[in-house]
Amino acid sequence: MAALPSKLALVTGASRGIGRATSLELAKRGYHVVALARSIAALESLDDDIRAIGGAATLTPLDLKDFYAIDRLGGVLFERWGQVHALVSCAGVLGVLTPVAHARPSMMQEAFAVNVLAAQRLIRSMDPLLRAAKGTAVFVTSRAARNPRPHWGAYAASKAALEALVRCYAQESQLAQVRVRLFDPGPVRTAMRAKAYPGEDPLGLITPEEVAPALVDVLEGRDGPGQDVLSVFASA
Ligand code: NAP
Repeated sequence: MAALPSKLALVTGASRGIGRATSLELAKRGYHVVALARSIAALESLDDDIRAIGGAATLTPLDLKDFYAIDRLGGVLFERWGQVHALVSCAGVLGVLTPVAHARPSMMQEAFAVNVLAAQRLIRSMDPLLRAAKGTAVFVTSRAARNPRPHWGAYAASKAALEALVRCYAQESQLAQVRVRLFDPGPVRTAMRAKAYPGEDPLGLITPEEVAPALVDVLEGRDGPGQDVLSVFASA
C-alpha cells in the first residue's frame, strides 16, 4: 500500500466545467485528486494546472458507462491507499432536450447510465473506502430534479432519481459517519449550460471557479449543522 495522502479526493467529471474547477480547488486545499473523465488530453491539462500550484493528481481516464471499470477502480484505490476522504460525483450529461414522447431510448439510457446508475456504482465501489476514512460524498444535482419542465425529461428524471438515491444513501451512512450531500450549483457557465441554452449570454453566468469553493466548503462540512442533505449555491 502506498503512503496515504493526508487528504484524498476522487472527482468525476474532472475534465471540464464544475468538476475541473472543483479538482483545482481541492488541490489548492491540499487534496491529492484522483481525476476521472473520458478526455485524456483534458485530464493532462488539469494535471499541468494542479502541478503548477504545487498539488498532485492521479489521472483516471474512464467512461462511467463502463460499470465494471467503476468496480475495478474501487479495488485499485483500496489496494493503493485503503481509504478515500472525499468523493465528488460531478460528471453528468444533459441528454437531448425533446418531448418525452419523442425521446430516443438510447438517449434516455445514456442519461440514466451516467447521471444515476454510475452514481450508484460509484457509491457501491467507494463506500468501504469512504467508511474507512469517515469521509464525505458530494453528488452534483440540478434544480431540474425538483422543477420538471417540457423537453427536460431525460435530465430532470435522472437528476430526480439521483436525488432520491443519494437521500437513501445519506440515511444509510449516518452510523458509519460518512457525510453525504447533494450540491445544486445553479446556472453555471459551462459547456452543458451552453448546450441547454445556446442563445444565452454566458457572461451573465457565474463561473465554475466561483462555484467550486462553495462545493468544497460543503464537502468539508462548512454547510452548517442541521442542514438538509441538499445544499444550493447561494448565488444561484
Ligand atoms: P460539462 O462541462 O459538460 O462537464 C461534464 C463532465 O462530465 C465532463 O468532465 C465530462 O468528461 C464528464 N462526463 C460526461 N459523460 C461522462 C462519461 N460517460 N464518463 C465519464 N465522464 C463523463 O458540465 P458541467 O456543467 O460542469 O456539469 C457538471 C455537473 O453539474 C453535472 O452533473 C451537471 O448536471 C451539474 N449541473 C450543472 C449546471 C450548469 O448550469 N452548468 C447546473 C446544475 C447542475 P468527458 O467528456 O471528458 O468524459
